[in-house]
Amino acid sequence: INSKLPNVGTTIFATMSKMAKDYNALNLSQGFPDFPVSPELIEGVYHYMKAGFNQYPPMTGMPQLRERIAEKIEKSYGTKVNVETEITLTAGAIEAINATITSLVNKGDEVIIMDPAYDAYEPIITLNGGITIPVSLKQPNFAIDWETVKEKVNAKTRMIIINSPHNPTGAMIEANDLAILAEITRDTNIIVLSDEVYEHIVFDGRAHESVLKHEELRQRSVATFSFGKTFHATGWRIGYMVAPDWISAEVRKVHQYMAFTVHTPSQLAIADYLENADHYNNLGAFYQQKRDLFLDLIKDSRFESLPSHGTYFQLLSYKNISEKPDLEMAEWLTKEKGIASIPISVFYDTKEDNKMLRFCFAKSEETLTKAAEILCAI
Ligand code: GLN
Repeated sequence: INSKLPNVGTTIFATMSKMAKDYNALNLSQGFPDFPVSPELIEGVYHYMKAGFNQYPPMTGMPQLRERIAEKIEKSYGTKVNVETEITLTAGAIEAINATITSLVNKGDEVIIMDPAYDAYEPIITLNGGITIPVSLKQPNFAIDWETVKEKVNAKTRMIIINSPHNPTGAMIEANDLAILAEITRDTNIIVLSDEVYEHIVFDGRAHESVLKHEELRQRSVATFSFGKTFHATGWRIGYMVAPDWISAEVRKVHQYMAFTVHTPSQLAIADYLENADHYNNLGAFYQQKRDLFLDLIKDSRFESLPSHGTYFQLLSYKNISEKPDLEMAEWLTKEKGIASIPISVFYDTKEDNKMLRFCFAKSEETLTKAAEILCAI
């Protein structure tokens, strides 16, 4: 077959989760919680199914849910968005990302991404004939190197993709980053794609800097979000995007043929659940407690932790333990030691091997305790 993605295999997340299952290892690889979804939310879905809400919702999503999302955005970011024209429900944030790139990137267009970056961006750009321009995040804090971004911007630049809180590093952008990005993109045709799926999972009193907070930047941005991440329901596949009407209209042209729409009863249940802002505002404290527990439990291990300011991921360096390449190390830990993680070289354009693994701490205390016992014995 004349593959459109000759260099792409199965994602590392599917690969490592399968390996964890096959070898009966603790799975701290793929990012998903191992504790239950709120019973109230589940009751809500059941309620709406029984009440007969089982047919197609509107292509853009149920109006009640779009209303609640608009309220949430106003409360969280102080921005008013148009419920009809600016919010679109999607099959997970990944569909929003895919539809955005597919609708806006033409053959030969350049898309600037950060390096490392979430593994999905590059193949989607490639599928659309776009050219990925990676810009390395600066060491040691994984900050964005705006000088280099500025140098790479030219007439062919169609899009810049940012992601904060950042997967896999847990780094976060600050208000000043958005100010610089606004300046770089001013008077250009560049669209900003801002992947904000971990918006509420932020620690140590930090504030998430959404592009939606920035009045100028917001006019050229698509921001993507995830109820899977926020409500511990990654299998529900419900996310959404927010973009000005002229961008949303273009992205919806693709969305209507890609997923068309998403699960009706879940949308209605989520709309009700969003009425209580505690359901998302407490998420940072909830996960900070898990991060701190995990770090405390492994403090005497030979792994070295890097700062995680947001997301539910923790990077650990094993440079004092082994010379193995990270893919091999992750495989060895899974098969021989019973704990699965994500080797982060896969997120690098250069496949750079920094001897670092990503561990997901969206896990019960019991799982984190068992995981720490294994890591401390290595
Ligand atoms: N976003 C998840 C992670 O980073 C993976 C999602 C997936 O497996 N497609 O682990």
